[in-house]
Amino acid sequence: AYIGAKHAIAVTNATAALHMSCLAAGLGPGDEAIVPSLTFVATANAIRYTGATPVFADIAGEQDLNISYHSIDKSITDRTRAILVVHYGGYACDMPSIMELAHEHGLKVIEDAAHAIGSELGGIKLGIWGDLGCYSFFSNKNMTTGEGGMIVTNDDDHARRLQLLRSHGMTSLTWDRHKGHAWSYDVVDLGYNYRIDEIRAALGKVQLGKLPANNERRRHLTQIYRDTLQELTPQVVVPFAHHPGISAAHIMPVLLPAGTNRSGFMESMKTQGIQTSIHCPPILTFTAYAAENAKYSLPNTEDIAAREITLPLYPGMSDGDVLSVAKAIMHALVPA
Ligand SMILES: *Cc1c(COP(=O)(O)O)cnc(C)c1O
Repeated sequence: AYIGAKHAIAVTNATAALHMSCLAAGLGPGDEAIVPSLTFVATANAIRYTGATPVFADIAGEQDLNISYHSIDKSITDRTRAILVVHYGGYACDMPSIMELAHEHGLKVIEDAAHAIGSELGGIKLGIWGDLGCYSFFSNKNMTTGEGGMIVTNDDDHARRLQLLRSHGMTSLTWDRHKGHAWSYDVVDLGYNYRIDEIRAALGKVQLGKLPANNERRRHLTQIYRDTLQELTPQVVVPFAHHPGISAAHIMPVLLPAGTNRSGFMESMKTQGIQTSIHCPPILTFTAYAAENAKYSLPNTEDIAAREITLPLYPGMSDGDVLSVAKAIMHALVPA
């Protein structure tokens, strides 16, 4: 109801959600699915679980760290079956153009909305722009059940298939048998045990109630970061400055000036008491993807990912904390 989706299927985590979405989209051996390299590894792994091949696309640029429409367009072959988009940091991909391209070529669109729970574009929540949308409730996401996830879809056939895949492909569930609605079951598909449990679901209901105010607070803090960094450290690029839609503001990514020693910068921040992180090492840089890496040149991803730093951002932060982080950045950028 919060997302405005016809069906919502709660699962063990977003990785399971992505895996089942790839299966529901019909991915299998011989198929290709287009995905950004600048995302968490689970997005591409989900494609590989089905036997299909991930095809990596570049990101748009310094102001838009999302998958580029033009790079998707160039990556389509006669084996392409799906596009997996990732709303980086909660900021919307160019969904109107991507959906049009997908319809032209008969492709399914799966949204990895792990960063984007509560984000909107054009008054529509991210996750239901495409055919299937996947959320994560892991402990570092905007709402959490410890581990957990959900798939949303407006397609009845996808929903039926997902319900079977979630629970061993069984035609009746423990609950139906307990209530005396059924005494046996058939198994009609190669399913998994990807169910969430009642205890986590109870946590999730309380977390969902807190989500809108927490997201609002994240957006407020993001705006303070933008204003403060513009004033104190204009050489640091803050992406998504004029991005359309309403972001869940999951993380606070910034780009260091070219030539900055990133590990030295992070070390200096650490000595000043401030934790920073990176979102994310591009998938193609990992050993498990080394064989793919040789086939690609993704100049925006390579340049921008090497300069990205993620600053602290959480609803419990004060406006003054943001100023402290900005001052620490000023100090860390001064050549030693
Ligand atoms: C966290 C995350 C996932 C995986 O979510 P889990 O619930 O931990 O499986 C997938 N994609 C992105 C972009 C994520 O940030």
